[in-house]
Amino acid sequence: MVTKTALQVWPIPAFDDNYIWCIHDGQSALVVDPGDAGPVIAFLQKEALTLTGILITHHHADHTGGIVSLLSYAESSIDKVVPVYGPATESIPGRTHALMEGDAVEFTAPAIEFSVFEVPGHTLGHIAYFADGLAPKLFCGDTLFASGCGRLFEGTPTQMTLSLAKFAALPPETAVYCTHEYTLSNIRFALAVEPNNADLIAWSKHAHALREANTPTLPTTIAHERRVNPFMRSDQPDVIEAALRESGAPALPSDAHVLAAIRAWKDRF
Ligand SMILES: [Zn+2]
Repeated sequence: MVTKTALQVWPIPAFDDNYIWCIHDGQSALVVDPGDAGPVIAFLQKEALTLTGILITHHHADHTGGIVSLLSYAESSIDKVVPVYGPATESIPGRTHALMEGDAVEFTAPAIEFSVFEVPGHTLGHIAYFADGLAPKLFCGDTLFASGCGRLFEGTPTQMTLSLAKFAALPPETAVYCTHEYTLSNIRFALAVEPNNADLIAWSKHAHALREANTPTLPTTIAHERRVNPFMRSDQPDVIEAALRESGAPALPSDAHVLAAIRAWKDRF
């Protein structure tokens, strides 16, 4: 007999630096943003897990490219349709449930419930999945990274600022499951913005040690990002001063102007 374990969240590495997160209870599993089916199928087989759902944050191929193969693998072994949740306003292969702000997504196996946030910026239809409770969890796709944020491919700095503000309002202990291991290069930039941020200096040492041991730097937490992530600190005097200096703008009248300036700086960093 298989014994169910408490809910676990595991990173499945894919491509060069993607993480496909797997949420499971020892028997049933959800995966978030399977850009590649191969490593997910290998993980499910190794852990003897049954796939019960796929969650998608946005339409980019490195988040959606494995959906179709994963569905044919999973559905052939259980003879049941595996639901695919994704943003309503983007084209997602195999999507069965189109989600918008405020929607709830509930699973019984593994037992977890998410609320949906619309977080435009990286893409226009980007959504995030938040599970409240004793150990709150956020699956944020390419919106927020450890010590950084996603590139603004489709959205505006104002949209990204509002999206990150939604995350900043979550419980500080919320574990944040980002989809790329970009942390060390993000830290290098964050230190250019805030060279005197003691939390950031300490985090830089710790993150380098983790990577030297080939350990993921994720998940992070909302509280931690509010201390070290320049994109969640656009109201801080040192961040504003650095943004003014680098942009050459005479004034940056809002948080969105500051975020726009540091995002443009990061893009050429
Ligand atoms: Zn993306």
